[in-house]
Amino acid sequence: MSSDILVVEDEPAIQELIAVNLEHAGHRVQRAHTAAEADAMIREVRPDVIVLDWMLPDIAGTALARRLRSDTRSKDIPIIMLTARAQERDKVEGLESGADDYVTKPFSPKELLARIKAVLRRRAPQLTDDTIEIEGLQLDPAAHRVSGRGNELQLGPTEFKLLHFFMTHPERVYSRVQLLDHVWGDHVFVEERTVDVHIRRLRQALEPTGHDRLIETVRGSGYRLHG
Ligand code: CA
Repeated sequence: MSSDILVVEDEPAIQELIAVNLEHAGHRVQRAHTAAEADAMIREVRPDVIVLDWMLPDIAGTALARRLRSDTRSKDIPIIMLTARAQERDKVEGLESGADDYVTKPFSPKELLARIKAVLRRRAPQLTDDTIEIEGLQLDPAAHRVSGRGNELQLGPTEFKLLHFFMTHPERVYSRVQLLDHVWGDHVFVEERTVDVHIRRLRQALEPTGHDRLIETVRGSGYRLHG
């Protein structure tokens, strides 16, 4: 599945190598050369992952990571730190600043891709291609297919995204605002009752195999997938 990845790196050759490989793997890439540029881009579009170089011309990557972690808008974005430093002490500092993982230069693009996928699986499982199954309901993100005990079910694109999010976050209650944020993405201005409309459609789509009962309404709070 394609993700929005922000690459913050001041060395043009490395920036290019990373961007080309990520795009080739199907991701959308934004490029920043300084922390200030990265800040501006994150305000514009919230990336799914940030690949962040440690040594930047304006401030250190670790300082930027710390700042991103303290801001509610960016605190949940997975960060992979790039660095030429290999010492154990530096790794600890990188991880303490809030980075999720750490890749030491020189690295192979393949390794970076694998790390990105691992971080997404851990931090944002709804962005990966893994097939998920809960109580006989199966969702295959790569094939864009949903089936209930082997019977294919027909879902609209928004219902598919909603179900994918619920299935990767079972047993947790999400408010309408949180669902808008996670499923529709931020910067999208949709009314809260739109969520109810799509929940209703999702339940209808799951009805033929009885899986509509998995989507629970939690009075006064929102919705939950009962796994
Ligand atoms: Ca650098």
